[in-house]
Amino acid sequence: MKIRKNDTVVVLSGEDAGKRGKVIRVFRDDDKVLVQGVNYVWKHMRRSADYPHGARIEKELPLPVSRVMLVCTSCDKPTRIAMKSAADGSRVRTCKKCKQPIGTGE
Ligand SMILES: [Zn+2]
Repeated sequence: MKIRKNDTVVVLSGEDAGKRGKVIRVFRDDDKVLVQGVNYVWKHMRRSADYPHGARIEKELPLPVSRVMLVCTSCDKPTRIAMKSAADGSRVRTCKKCKQPIGTGE
């Protein structure tokens, strides 16, 4: 999984194809990401103690990571990632198009 929290991604397929958003959460075990503003659903809540009148709650659902592509922070294009070793031995994600390192993420 090369996508990290706070990355900007673009959706490749489905209803939200072409939309961009920030990764709010990464689910490593499921290979899914939660992207701000993408894959919204309306969840209908029944009347309950918390929602005395019932409610419709807008909620993002996680997307499979295969449906998104990372957007480069330097050239602003969706790109594949190359992993490079930095001088200090850490692994840095690098844009395959402009060769610049991609945002820090988490
Ligand atoms: Zn780039």
